[in-house]
Amino acid sequence: MSFAGENLTVPADSPEARRYNRIRRWLGIADAVLGLALLVLLLATNWSGWLRDLAYRGAFQNYSFAVFLYVGMLLLIGKILGLGLDYYGFRLEHRFNLSNQKLQSWIWDETKGFLVGLVMATVVVELLYFIIRQSPEHWWLIAWVLFTGLFVLLAQIAPVVLFPIFYKFEPLENEDLKERLVRLSERAGTRVRGVYKWRLSEKSKKANAALTGLGTTRRIILADTLLDHYSQDEIEAVLAHELGHHVHRHILKSIAVQAGITLFGFWAANAVLHYAVDERHMFETLSDFANLPLLALVSTVLSLLLMPVLNAYSRYNERQADRYCFRSIASVGPFISSMNKLAAQNLAERSPSKWVEWFFHSHPAISKRVAAAEAWEK
Ligand SMILES: [Zn+2]
Repeated sequence: MSFAGENLTVPADSPEARRYNRIRRWLGIADAVLGLALLVLLLATNWSGWLRDLAYRGAFQNYSFAVFLYVGMLLLIGKILGLGLDYYGFRLEHRFNLSNQKLQSWIWDETKGFLVGLVMATVVVELLYFIIRQSPEHWWLIAWVLFTGLFVLLAQIAPVVLFPIFYKFEPLENEDLKERLVRLSERAGTRVRGVYKWRLSEKSKKANAALTGLGTTRRIILADTLLDHYSQDEIEAVLAHELGHHVHRHILKSIAVQAGITLFGFWAANAVLHYAVDERHMFETLSDFANLPLLALVSTVLSLLLMPVLNAYSRYNERQADRYCFRSIASVGPFISSMNKLAAQNLAERSPSKWVEWFFHSHPAISKRVAAAEAWEK
């Protein structure tokens, strides 16, 4: 293992980077605690039941409309409670000179995010309680099959439907880069449907790149903040890494892992729900949607518990994509310099503490990625 101090090609983290990342982590923890506290409070005080009655009255006793009103009220309460933290996060990016987004644009993004969330939550919750009413015993299995299908569909349409709500994308014009990508892809015996320029600079000073979509929508997106400030060789290294995700089918594999976890989650949710209804009589029936916070609680606790496992899996995939990149490019030099540039531009911690990396990071520490590149060269 190599630490910043002994590795000449990885500069040590500045106190600024350490502070920024520490605040970001605490912000994430505070957000999770707030969400959990709200769910527990709704259940313990039965305010959830009160909200359900309110929704029924507003919906003239129509079940489906009441579900919609209830979901809307729940999301609105959550949004209002979390608004302070959200705004603090917006200010934080400015304080560390990482964002150039205007307040008005941020408010518009938050509004759009809330509406998109409301639409998706409504679809999911309406379907869920419809299934529960039809089959109180097997709902969790039916819902799992249906939601896994919906999840695959979402992964497919996200790059063409969801992302453009927040950012502009355009096909990459740079002929030289396109030529390099074609060469890289041919060597990999594969074909990516397209490379898109992602206009991130309107909102952020950070740089990013990703492989997104499934099937016909699968594409590599490169932030303009990266395209404008990195050399052709460095961009090629980033492209090769994203192509590594493509070659190793990481999106499909991640969906499969997610589906396995979701199956367990639905099974656990069903057990908890039956316990709450049959044993504790907290709710009259399984289809009483006032029990939604209980389902959300099961899902949130499970996600938090599994976060280190999923992050470890993601880091494994990232290492695999990195190795693919080392094999594909002429020399690892541009990979190392692109890593250092990214760390500086995004104020990332190059050498986070072991437990921070273990719990929070979906990517290996940059110091380790650089060390792996150097070891490869030897
Ligand atoms: Zn990656």
